[in-house]
Amino acid sequence: MSRLLDRLHDEIVALDAQSLRRRRQVAETACAPEQSLTLAGATAPRTMLGFSSNDYLGLAAHPALAAAWAEGAARYGTGSGGSHLILGHSRAHAQLEERLADWMAPFIPEAQSLFFCTGYMANLAVLSALGGAQAVIFSEALNHASLIDGARLAKARVERYPHCDIAALDAMLAACDAPVKLIVSDAVFSMDGHLAPVAQLLALAERHDAWLVLDDAHGFGVLGDTGCGVVQAMGLHSERLVLIGTLGKAAGVSGAFVAAHRTVIDYLVQRARPYIFTTAAPPAVAHALLASLALIEGEEGAQRRAALQARIAQLREGVKAVLPADGSAWLAESPTAIQPLIVGDNARAMRTMAQLDARGLRVGAIRPPTVPAGTARLRIALSASHSHADVARLVDALGAALSRPEQEAA
Ligand SMILES: *Cc1c(COP(=O)(O)O)cnc(C)c1O
Repeated sequence: MSRLLDRLHDEIVALDAQSLRRRRQVAETACAPEQSLTLAGATAPRTMLGFSSNDYLGLAAHPALAAAWAEGAARYGTGSGGSHLILGHSRAHAQLEERLADWMAPFIPEAQSLFFCTGYMANLAVLSALGGAQAVIFSEALNHASLIDGARLAKARVERYPHCDIAALDAMLAACDAPVKLIVSDAVFSMDGHLAPVAQLLALAERHDAWLVLDDAHGFGVLGDTGCGVVQAMGLHSERLVLIGTLGKAAGVSGAFVAAHRTVIDYLVQRARPYIFTTAAPPAVAHALLASLALIEGEEGAQRRAALQARIAQLREGVKAVLPADGSAWLAESPTAIQPLIVGDNARAMRTMAQLDARGLRVGAIRPPTVPAGTARLRIALSASHSHADVARLVDALGAALSRPEQEAA
């Protein structure tokens, strides 16, 4: 092997030795609680009950969305043919942006929206375009990797503030005389499930003449009476808000949007390189998303949000009843579909995951450096499509794994 290949190979071997090597599984069937999966190294698929998808409303395999996708493909073809500024911006994209602007109008004065291929790209676009050399980005310590990468791409100076520490952020903003200040935070923390103190962040933005950039990847579709997300649930209203919502999680399709005052959106169209220099997503995706938005805001969406809330309550009550009495594992406080069960050390997280796996249950184990040392966890993600029996099965298996670790692991 060449020396370059040797180096890469050595790094992979080192990851393997620390049990940090990532492996993919192949999904043989559509995203649903019960799914046929071929795990790494296996020759045959297994049917597993999963608690790790972001399909919070169970829309990813909804027949109405598949039908809308097919209709969109029949009408517009499969490819967009170009970037949004050249010729790839279809009527379906335009309609989707108008619908999302209507959704966000109660929360952002003169709201407009801009559709992106992914949330990752939307975050790169917002931070690199608004975070020019004159700007300072105030970045929440637990922000998602895409916000961190967006801040890296920006010419702005980046200052990290401690998790949910409003007093510290207040002092940092007060000490800053840059003409442009961006407060940047996840709205729902992806490894913890709890909400950022968004109303207080917005008050700081108002007080210090700053923007508030909120990434609502895990709240959009789930939070708020009609699924508008964190802005609706918390009653936010400001022209300082720049909201990113992703459309591949609760919305069950793919893509993302930025909603902001129309001047901000106009500016992004002129200046955001991750918007300008990429092929527009297929129009059929936007067409399917129009059907998804109709479901989310309608009766079916309300029913699915209620079903999800019922599963969340069932899980929390059930798990609390089976936690070990020594306090060595606990369920973090979370009102969302993301329910982290903190078990402490890495080995215990991996062991618990293996015990669940043996019973046909899949839950992701999250270890440092993704989360702080000593807080390795099982990240349980619930969906409206989980049944009462599904959650009961998980609670039983967790009870067994946490109370009889050695027996089960043997
Ligand atoms: C998933 C996620 C993203 C990225 O969105 P994609 O559409 O998957 O690229 C951005 N931010 C947060 C907080 C996320 O959880």
